[in-house]
Amino acid sequence: MRVLCAWCVRDGRAAFLREKLPLEDRSETHGLCADHFLSLSASVKQVVTPKMWWIARANHLSWALTRWVRRQAGRLCSLLVPDR
Ligand SMILES: [Zn+2]
Repeated sequence: MRVLCAWCVRDGRAAFLREKLPLEDRSETHGLCADHFLSLSASVKQVVTPKMWWIARANHLSWALTRWVRRQAGRLCSLLVPDR
């Protein structure tokens, strides 16, 4: 099988990477060349990591806020409806 870089195919560049078993099968499969692998991992590090960090942080804060609101609401209810 012929392995082509999917991004090079899209860009109209020379996309052939390597041969892959079975060699007698001449059909094509897709991979990523070193250039595009590097640019992809660089863009992933730049874009996704801080974004994921903020999503995780916002998620954590919203849970903490929800718990705090519930606790305050519970306290308020116990003040309004005293136990007898
Ligand atoms: Zn490529």
